Amino acid sequence: MKRRHPGKGTGKGRMQNRGRQVSPEALQEITALLSQQVIRRDLLIEYLHLVQDHYGCITAQHLAALAEIVNIPMAAAYETASFYAHFDIIKEGEAVPAPVTVRVCDSIACQLRGAAELQQTLQEQLDPTQVRVVRAPCMGRCATAPVAEVGHRHTDNASLAAVQAVIAENALSPVIPNYQSYADYVAAGGYTILQECRSGERSAVDINAELKESGLRGMGGAGFPTATKWQLVCQHAGPRLMAVNADEGEPGTFKDRYFLEHEPHQFLEGMLIGAWAVEAQTVYIYLRDEYPAACKILLAELATLEDAGLIAPEYVELRRGAGAYVCGEESAMIESIEGKRGYPRQRPPYVAEVGLFGKPTLVNNVETLYWVPAILKQGAQWFASQGVNGSKGLRSYSVSGRVAEPGVKIAPAGTTLEDLIENYCGGMAAGHQLLGYLPGGASGGILPASKANLPLDFGALEEHGCFIGSAAIVVLSEQDDIRDVVLNLMRFFEDESCGQCTPCRSGTEKVVQLLESGNWDANLLDDLSQVMRDASICGLGQAAANPIDSARTFFAAHLIVTDSATGGTTDNTTDNDRER
Ligand code: SF4
Repeated sequence: MKRRHPGKGTGKGRMQNRGRQVSPEALQEITALLSQQVIRRDLLIEYLHLVQDHYGCITAQHLAALAEIVNIPMAAAYETASFYAHFDIIKEGEAVPAPVTVRVCDSIACQLRGAAELQQTLQEQLDPTQVRVVRAPCMGRCATAPVAEVGHRHTDNASLAAVQAVIAENALSPVIPNYQSYADYVAAGGYTILQECRSGERSAVDINAELKESGLRGMGGAGFPTATKWQLVCQHAGPRLMAVNADEGEPGTFKDRYFLEHEPHQFLEGMLIGAWAVEAQTVYIYLRDEYPAACKILLAELATLEDAGLIAPEYVELRRGAGAYVCGEESAMIESIEGKRGYPRQRPPYVAEVGLFGKPTLVNNVETLYWVPAILKQGAQWFASQGVNGSKGLRSYSVSGRVAEPGVKIAPAGTTLEDLIENYCGGMAAGHQLLGYLPGGASGGILPASKANLPLDFGALEEHGCFIGSAAIVVLSEQDDIRDVVLNLMRFFEDESCGQCTPCRSGTEKVVQLLESGNWDANLLDDLSQVMRDASICGLGQAAANPIDSARTFFAAHLIVTDSATGGTTDNTTDNDRER
């Protein structure tokens, strides 16, 4: 372990170091905690997790000790630690949190299923000296809403009794689902494509041509052609790196978790093929912290791959996110992997040229890589021919909300909502009639029932002011209040804005204030929407206005809109709306 002596850096003639003094006890504790770790600046977030997991919080003294050990200023350690929601920084004199933390998801699918009532009940019924109840954004389990996380164990279809049972049993570790093992995957022909690539039977040029013909695009939300991205990275001189984006935080999205928890090796083979294609020196998997079961699975299966001789030790590094939606944006993810706060970068340069640690970096999403071995095994035409309504390939739709059978639905790209509901989801939930739907999670806008016949794929929804993104389909019914839906989405953006740029930081806050006051002021909302779209640095701020704009375009009949420019008011609401 490389460590700076606590006294090093004392100014000439000064009796004390500047800033916080590190207590010997705290230094000893953190030194012991990190005794098995290699000390590197970029691993700061991993160390913060170790401290948080061990002590249930991060005290100012422990943070100072960590800064000392990593050899960074206290301000840099604090800046990173305080950026992420999953780190509890405790200042001098502040009480440490209760031993157990219960996070209650309050994102849109859980809100529809009573998350607010659940949170209130838990806060009223659980002993606050033993249990801390806090809100949390989407946990990627929208099909089983409402969801709570007790320690690191999720309770699906959560209730007071279910949460109490987990606490009583002290069962705070994640439940590991059954998944396809390495042996089963190999028995089914797994890793043969990777071996063919590595042995020279297949060339990078052939692989690229096959992927191009298949029409595979980035399934994280951007839809960038995969083959083109691999080519672009290769155009820049090495050494190159690869970063897998497993940080699906878009409310309503849970398909990547499904693949990681059920078929991790198909994803891992796709990842290693990608790494081979761009000659990546090291691969980083950035996994959201809300997926503790997937974390354990990946750690175990990466060790299996090492044992099998498919990867060298430490060739793949698994990194835990720490509760920041913005880190799903690729440049913010890269900042986070470097151990910093997840501030999106100004581009150009793009990460394909200047990415992780300044090197050309291939960034791919989990689902994208999951499809790679299947395409190379079954052929580009197999994949491309699956699409409908002019689309190519298969898509994994995360469907939640008011349908009878929510879940991950693997269907042809371009499938319509009406087809998804009727043929994949068992129809609408009993007693519910379709009002509208979110085609791409919180940021993809909201479409009305009259547009349930649109193909759900990249490029098909933009003319309606929406986009498919990661295909997070949240179905709304006539029993849902569109005003509550929009407020929920806007609160999410306000919470998750990283604060780096003013249009997004202040714009989302101002919109929430307007909506909370019931004042849908058309003039102000137009201004805010425009400035967020035009002047925000990243996609979060640029798309944050989509819910408001969609609601005003398609659901005006459920809104009261004023206009501070004209002094007029338009009230289209019905008795039903007013009763809600
Ligand atoms: Fe941060 Fe929002 Fe600006 Fe993106 S748009 S950089 S999330 S403040």
